Amino acid sequence: MGRVVHDVSDITEDFCLTSFLEFEKWKDEIVENIRFLAALNDWVYSTLKEHWRLSRGCRQARDFVTGPDPARSIWILGRSRETLNQLVGILTGHCKLRRHLSLLGIEEDPTCPRCGEDDETSYHFVGQCEAFRRLRFAIFGSGTLSREKLVSLGWSDVLTFIRTSGRLSERIGRVNR
Ligand SMILES: [Zn+2]
Repeated sequence: MGRVVHDVSDITEDFCLTSFLEFEKWKDEIVENIRFLAALNDWVYSTLKEHWRLSRGCRQARDFVTGPDPARSIWILGRSRETLNQLVGILTGHCKLRRHLSLLGIEEDPTCPRCGEDDETSYHFVGQCEAFRRLRFAIFGSGTLSREKLVSLGWSDVLTFIRTSGRLSERIGRVNR
């Protein structure tokens, strides 16, 4: 026969006792599964790191990313779809900047429409474009960023830069210098 429940504290006590007994029953199996998942996780990341090291693709992404990063993966997967699109677009170069659009045949000229100094790549936009020098200084503390500096940028700062610049929200072919 079960215990008589008098108030909420009894329910909580019962719940705790039941949970503890269930945990004790399955503890060894749970611990074994956690060990297996941790080992699987390590294997996946070491395999991805090796693949990243040996492959030659993702040239623009390599400016911003040194390889698979569990902490950054968790952080980015917790963001909204719009945030994911904006950030991944800039990190990979697959976004509404002129160089990528010219590769797709959407724009003829890959040159930056804001400064006209270079192709409008992610590196140019985030690190070099004169039109965003003041914004860059406000967010990253420097008017220009070397290519080597990009990997150390915080992604939340990169997002702030993208959004505040408004560059990816502009209509294609409608940028005024
Ligand atoms: Zn520019």
